[in-house]
Formats: sequence, C-alpha cells, structure tokens
Amino acid sequence: MADRDWPRIAAALAPVEVIDDPTTIKKRSRDFFWYSPVLNEKLRRSFGDLVVRPKTRDELAHVLSVAYAEGAPVVLRGGGTGNYGQAVPLQGGLIVETTAMTQILEIGEGYVRVEAGALMSDINAALIEQGWELAMFPSTQDIATIGGFIAGGSAGIGSIANGALREKGNIIQLKALSVEDNPVEHVFDAEDSLQIHHAWGLNGAITEVTLRTVPTRDWIGCMVGFDTYRDCFAAGFTLAFSTEIGRKLCCTVDARIVDYFPRLDEHIPKRSNLLVALVPREDMEAFRAFVAESGGALHLAMDDAERQALKLPHVFEFAYNHTTLQVLKADRSATYQQVGVPDPSDADRVAAMADSLGDEVWPHHEFARVNGEIVAFDLPIIWFKDEARLREIDATYEAGGFAVYDAHTYFVEGGGLKNVDYRHLAWKKRLDPKGLLNPGKSAAWDDVRHLSPEEIEALGKKDSAA
Ligand SMILES: Cc1cc2nc3c(=O)[nH]c(=O)nc-3n(C[C@H](O)[C@H](O)[C@H](O)COP(=O)(O)OP(=O)(O)OC[C@H]3O[C@@H](n4cnc5c(N)ncnc54)[C@H](O)[C@@H]3O)c2cc1C
Repeated sequence: MADRDWPRIAAALAPVEVIDDPTTIKKRSRDFFWYSPVLNEKLRRSFGDLVVRPKTRDELAHVLSVAYAEGAPVVLRGGGTGNYGQAVPLQGGLIVETTAMTQILEIGEGYVRVEAGALMSDINAALIEQGWELAMFPSTQDIATIGGFIAGGSAGIGSIANGALREKGNIIQLKALSVEDNPVEHVFDAEDSLQIHHAWGLNGAITEVTLRTVPTRDWIGCMVGFDTYRDCFAAGFTLAFSTEIGRKLCCTVDARIVDYFPRLDEHIPKRSNLLVALVPREDMEAFRAFVAESGGALHLAMDDAERQALKLPHVFEFAYNHTTLQVLKADRSATYQQVGVPDPSDADRVAAMADSLGDEVWPHHEFARVNGEIVAFDLPIIWFKDEARLREIDATYEAGGFAVYDAHTYFVEGGGLKNVDYRHLAWKKRLDPKGLLNPGKSAAWDDVRHLSPEEIEALGKKDSAA
C-alpha cells in the first residue's frame, strides 16, 4: 500500500469537510460485517485514512478529482449498514460519506428524485405527506441512505408487492460521477441503471436517484402466532399469494428466534412461531378471516400511532436482517445465512429441511415477488461453531436443493450476485479507469482491468451465450 502524505491530501480536499480524528476514522471504516464471524476475522483490522463529507455534487466531484490525481482509494459510504463489509476500505484511502447530500429534489406522480445521501425514512416521511411512499425500502430505513440501498441492497419492505429493486420500473434513473481529472456525471435511465445498481460503489459515485413510488396506505402491523413452523410458513405462503389481501411485508419467524424479542413480551406468548405482516386497514377483515382459517392467533394488530404510543418498534424491525440483529443483541455467537427456497408452496419440504438441521439452525423466511413470481428465502439464525461447520450446513441446504447465497464473503460476485457482472466491470473501466473505487471487492476485476470496456462487456455476452 502506498505511503501517502495525508495532511497534504486533506489540504487539497479543502473546502470539503475532512475528518482525520482516528476514532471517527475507525468507526467509519466498519459496517455490519460483524454479523459474520468469518468476515469479522478478515475485515476488523481494515481502516481508511481520512473521512470526507461533501455537501454537494460539486464538492463530491472535487473529492474524486483529488483522489484521481493522488491515485488514492475511495470507498463511498452512506449509513454503513451493509452486511458484507461493502463499505470497509480494504486498501486504506478516503472514506467518502454522502450523509450531507440529503436533498429531496422532486416528488411527482409515481416517482421521487433525491440526492444519494438522503435517509430513506426522511424520503418516506416527505412522500407520505403527499400520499405516496417508496415502492420498497430496507428495514434499516432510519439510518441507511438511498444511495447505499441502490449500491448495496436488493429488496425490502414492499418487495412482496412491488418486486426487487432491479425489476423493471423500480429504478427510474441513476446519476453517477466518474473518477477522473474532471469527473463527469453519467445518467443511466431505466434498465441501464442495472449497470450501476448493486455494484457496491465499484463503478461510479451515485449522486442522484429517481425511484418509483406507490400510493401510501394506512398500514397495520400484524403478528400472528402458530404452534408449528410448518403451519406458520404455509400461512405465509398463502398470504404472499393472496389477491384479496394487500401486504407490503410477509415473513415467518421460528418460535426459538421470537423468544429473543423481549420488547414483544407483553404482546406475544412464548413459543409462538410468528407470521409478521403489514396489511392495509381496509383489508383487515379479510386478514382476520384468513388468520382464523389458517389456525393462527392474531396477537398484535396496530397502526403507527398505536405503535408509537406503546413505544414499540416497527414490525419490520423483526423482519429481514433485523430479525438476526434482535438475536445478536443478546448473543454474539449467532450468525446467519441466505438460502433460497426451491418451491415455496411446499411447506413440508421447508419444515423437513429445518428439522434436519436441528437446534443449531433456526428458520426465518421472507416472501417476495421476483419477476412476478412469489419466492421465499431463508435468513436462518445459525449458532456458529467454526467456518468448517458453517460450510457443512451450507452443503446440507445445497444437497436438499436449497441454493445458498453466501453471506460470509466480501466479494461482490460471491453472495446474491453469484456470477461476475461484466456490465458492472465495463462501466468500472469507463468511470474508474485507475480502479480506485472500493478496491479489493471484485474478485474478477484484476483479470479484466487491462481490457477495454467493450472487451469486458463482450465477456459477459460470451458467458450468457455459453
Ligand atoms: C439490521 C439490518 C437490516 C437490513 N435489512 C435490509 C433489507 O431489508 N434489504 C436490503 O436490501 N438490505 C438490508 N440490509 C443491508 C443494508 O442495510 C442495506 O443494503 C442498506 O440500504 C445500505 O444502505 P447504507 O446507506 O447503510 O449503505 P452503506 O452500507 O453505507 O453502503 C453500501 C454499499 O454501497 C456503496 N455506496 C454507498 N453510497 C454510495 C453512493 N452514493 N454511490 C456509490 N456507492 C455507494 C458503499 O460503498 C457500499 O459498497 C440490512 C442490514 C442490517 C444491518
């Protein structure tokens, strides 16, 4: 790693805010990678050299041009809530925090245009005032930025109705700056936005995002208890599939995990397998009928005002990766994995897989819509022994036909993406010719960095033709 004159670089970055206090730098060099003991071991000693906080697109462009001149690595950072060390600087350098770029630029019929550093809860609050809401958002909306979600996330609350982020119509436009002498802002419309989406900030600094919005509804947070996880999952699938009951969240949580939710003690009896859902008020009668038919017990149904009066968290703070967090708050020896369900209509197969994994692995499924189809994926709690045992558990899933999307890797190609995205890398070559953005996070970049963008893109076409 090059020994750089950081005080001189800090001076060159002026008038942009620079933080050189070692404690802050250490804090900003971390994200939620510690969910994984495997990643924790690999990443906990990686730190940046300076934190930089641009307030405008021009300031961000200035930072990128200084980085280019100095050949300094750059890691973009929003709220730092990623789970795979996406925002950890592996080769030191500048941590460029976007949290001062927060403007909500435009709200229109079915869309919102915002700066990349805006918090999703702020965007939703502004939208709701005008009768809209984000088509989907992660359970971290209070601390995560929209730019971080687009660059590092994939789906969330709302995906059961509106699909994953990458689906047609969800991302309307992205703007991203290159890392050059004079950074250029590139505009990616509609499908072209996939060239930047989920690239972990490797191929451009996102400045502005235009996203689909949907009419807001009076959502009721619901929790339904079941005696067995099998019945809970089957009910989750029925609700996910319903054409009669609207929902923007539908997930199921094993009773052993629910017992780690102390804030729900007064509402949820012990040993309840929980179906967690957000249902619009006008569909609550149909929802109650569905609960009775499914053999469940409705333990909690409250709107936002009732929830706030009782000082309870949102129901979605017991969903997605917040479920894992609830357990980790009590016991750091837990971890998790990301596992696809081959056939979500087959509750018996899901229950049999959970049984075969015994007390070491506790299931938690999220239902979502992908390309119009209902899918389920498991974010199970795993009581970690060592990596070898974790990989045996992965192998058990795979042998049963359940695909594992590894949560314990810091390579963009390793987890949800699974394959190399050559479009991402071609745009990296165009927007980041020196390879300064988030170095070390792509396992494939070093093999292609000497090629032209067109040659890199052609590799992707060869792959899909094979
Ligand atoms: C408790 C918990 C629950 C979660 N729930 C969900 C969920 O429901 N759905 C989901 O998809 N994820 C979820 N996540 C993962 C994470 O919260 C989301 O991906 C989140 O939206 C990331 O936003 P952030 O601002 O924290 O991004 P960061 O962690 O700061 O960054 C994420 C990645 O994006 C890059 N980046 C950030 N800003 C920019 C920019 N302006 N331009 C280019 N690249 C940029 C970073 O370099 C990094 O690679 C969860 C994580 C936790 C800890």
